[in-house]
Amino acid sequence: MNITNEKVTQYIDELYKPLTQELGQLRMKAEEANVPIILKDTESLLLNLIRIHRPKRILEIGTAVGYSSSCFAIVYDGAEVVTIEYNEETYETALQNIENLGLSDKITVYHGDGGEVIEKLYNEGSEPFDLIFIDAAKSHYKRFWDSAIKLAHQDTIIVSDNVLMKAMTVSSEYDIHGKHKTNIRKMQEYVQYINELDYCHTSVIPVGDGLAISVIDK
Ligand code: SAM
Repeated sequence: MNITNEKVTQYIDELYKPLTQELGQLRMKAEEANVPIILKDTESLLLNLIRIHRPKRILEIGTAVGYSSSCFAIVYDGAEVVTIEYNEETYETALQNIENLGLSDKITVYHGDGGEVIEKLYNEGSEPFDLIFIDAAKSHYKRFWDSAIKLAHQDTIIVSDNVLMKAMTVSSEYDIHGKHKTNIRKMQEYVQYINELDYCHTSVIPVGDGLAISVIDK
């Protein structure tokens, strides 16, 4: 189920304006191909967060076809984006889309597992990131967080997408066919974990499929 009233969601979606015509076309193409890209209200909030926070370095786990990373690179010209995609075919499509948008010099796409690539970046002495967006396999969020936190600093914002999982995180009664038990348990544990950490402040908000916005205060 939607986590907000459908009429409210529809009203908010009607207010949505794509950042550029090309991004509007990329969104349409991704949606037609059922690629799970960020929802419109999630995009709108994330882009305003970027306008306010002006992150020089953005890390994304879960590139898909490069839609959100392209939005991040365009909305703030000063941002360098690093994004990680596990699926090889999707990774190749992202590289192509990013090149078509003329963003190859602003976005680095890595092929591999989010946690493993972040550990490698850390071991190679990567600079920390100012904004981290976790948007990949839901059952691995804690692992992604534990790696990504090594590349965070005071005031880094970590946004985790889909934390309410169509309300299933709130109650398993919304898992009508009982197919998501493991994902539900792991997401509940993840939300509790980040909520109880003493080095960050987290807000869980019913935007899109549920966002956790965490501000690091080490
Ligand atoms: N952020 C993208 C956007 O809004 O345009 C959407 C990302 S999509 C929800 C999640 C992506 O994460 C999928 O393309 C999937 O292949 C990828 N993924 C799944 N497991 C992963 C992992 N362990 N490491 C990196 N990427 C992974």
